[in-house]
Amino acid sequence: MPAPHKARKRFGQNFLHDTRALHRIVAALDLSPEDHVVEIGPGKGALTRFLLPACRRLDVVEIDRDLVARLQDRFAGHDHLHIHAADALQFDFAALGSGLKIVGNLPYNISTPLLFHLFRFKDVTETMVFMLQKEVVERLAAAPGDKRYGRLSVMAQYHCQVEKRFTVKPEAFRPRPKVMSAVVRLHPHRTPPVDVGDYRTFEALVARAFGQRRKTLRNALRGVVAQETIRACAIDPGARAETLPLDAFACLSRALGDSVQPATA
Ligand code: SAM
Repeated sequence: MPAPHKARKRFGQNFLHDTRALHRIVAALDLSPEDHVVEIGPGKGALTRFLLPACRRLDVVEIDRDLVARLQDRFAGHDHLHIHAADALQFDFAALGSGLKIVGNLPYNISTPLLFHLFRFKDVTETMVFMLQKEVVERLAAAPGDKRYGRLSVMAQYHCQVEKRFTVKPEAFRPRPKVMSAVVRLHPHRTPPVDVGDYRTFEALVARAFGQRRKTLRNALRGVVAQETIRACAIDPGARAETLPLDAFACLSRALGDSVQPATA
């Protein structure tokens, strides 16, 4: 028996032990035996155990080397399991193939940068199912006008169809997190829902528009987007970014061509 593992805060370790929640996560992936699954942050293998018999190949990416050693022990002999001792934030998911179903009870401290990293691999991803802090799931799914609507909502909804699935209480984890959790399914759009023109311009524009949330667009985009351009997109320059739907950002981005550079965002 290996020594008990002490949960590491810096790796966002809250291990899920609620069997019902584990089953519901697996069910949300809609697996068939031919599927290639990637699990981020397998930890001690709570979810891994249910994924293994349900797919053709399973790759897991875990940063904590102690946990990697445990996983190697626990799942020795499962030839279709590939364990990567790596940082998911740096991981090249495209190197694994395509048609990936990506899943994980994600470390909450890095969930936003991780989601942005994963959006880069949407072309090789069929679907993603993640346990996240409930507040992050609400931000992903928020509509314009909602106070939770922001950069993450616009970028996630540009890349994926966002479906809130269910919430999970802190008691389902050990140690218990201080916040409620929720599971979300992100289904990458094969064709983007709007034409944004130059993608880097769009990214930089959205970042800048939400950079100072309280400011009107006129002020937040001063020096970058002329008021006439804002008006030409049928947007009131006195409006705030949090009221703009995705197609309004797309219109502004197209009007700018490739003139907004990420360094200015
Ligand atoms: N899946 C397990 C479960 O549900 O019990 C563990 C979930 S725990 C919330 C998050 C896991 O992600 C931990 O195992 C942690 O070590 C791992 N992790 C944290 N940061 C990571 C990173 N940058 N790359 C890969 N794994 C990471």
